[in-house]
Amino acid sequence: MRLWEKHDNEGNIRCLLCPHLCLITPGGRGICGVRENCEGEIKLMTSGVISGYALDPIEKKPLYHFFPGSVILSVGSYGCNLKCDFCQNYHISQNVPSGEARRLEPEELVRQASELRGNIGIAYTYNEPVIWYEYIAECARLAALEGLKNVMVSNGYIRSEPLKELTELIDAFNIDLKSFSNEFYRRYTGATLKPVLEAIKMISASGRHLEITTLILPGLNDSPDEIRQAAEWIAVNAGKGVPLHLSRYFPMYRRSDPATPPETILRLKEIAEEYLDYVYTGNMPGTDGGSDTRCPSCQSVVIRRSGYSTRITGLTDEGKCQKCGEKIIS
Ligand code: SF4
Repeated sequence: MRLWEKHDNEGNIRCLLCPHLCLITPGGRGICGVRENCEGEIKLMTSGVISGYALDPIEKKPLYHFFPGSVILSVGSYGCNLKCDFCQNYHISQNVPSGEARRLEPEELVRQASELRGNIGIAYTYNEPVIWYEYIAECARLAALEGLKNVMVSNGYIRSEPLKELTELIDAFNIDLKSFSNEFYRRYTGATLKPVLEAIKMISASGRHLEITTLILPGLNDSPDEIRQAAEWIAVNAGKGVPLHLSRYFPMYRRSDPATPPETILRLKEIAEEYLDYVYTGNMPGTDGGSDTRCPSCQSVVIRRSGYSTRITGLTDEGKCQKCGEKIIS
């Protein structure tokens, strides 16, 4: 799929990957800082450039209903198409190194992933994977041939055509729904809400595994009304069985507000649970039960989590509740 088009006879081109639709002059780069106009074509300058590489618990993505208790090789690069004031990974998302960098070609990454004991696949994460599109597509194709799973942790700010192609390659997504307010998106991220909602709907309709994360920022997106609207929208448009992770914010990058009070997360969790079957607290180790999975039908605890330690306590091999037979893990 060609992700750009010629704009005029001056060598300017338009990138068609994300809703920013950057118009890029010869030698220039788009907002994400990694896609360059090289002689009238888009070149991904970070293809294979790795900022981080680790065998992580799948719960760290976070994905709680996709191979719970497993580990996955997680990789990321540099750059982002959003400019969030509160970015928790700003050192890689808002910085694209110009010199020598560590590189891993797709064949090599997949070879390493398939040799790691216990590893279920590859997670594209840490910075924003959308802007790494061509590299991810190639890795995911090769990984699937080796029987590995592909996971993407993303802001969901992508146009529908390229996303459609990704849903054919990626097995599970965690999408950041940063707020349910367009004003918030415009003011604090440099993006807009609607394309993210469209992406969530498209992933859900594709049948791929989907979980959603919202980082709760005190005074900015923590009103009960906003969480109520978001949870209701998710239930109607993606299904009440889509897990929602409400994560605690810590001061980072351009913001110095105090960390989100744990009580705020717990209060919002209760509200979201009026609409959704699975709502989890995030970045709150030690909070009793907030990251456990309960059967929505009989309320038994079927998975217990403490930090990144996961114990499956009440699930059958088919992912059903041992007590009442409710399907929990697909
Ligand atoms: S992917 Fe990058 S270059 Fe393309 S439209 Fe988005 S921000 Fe602009």
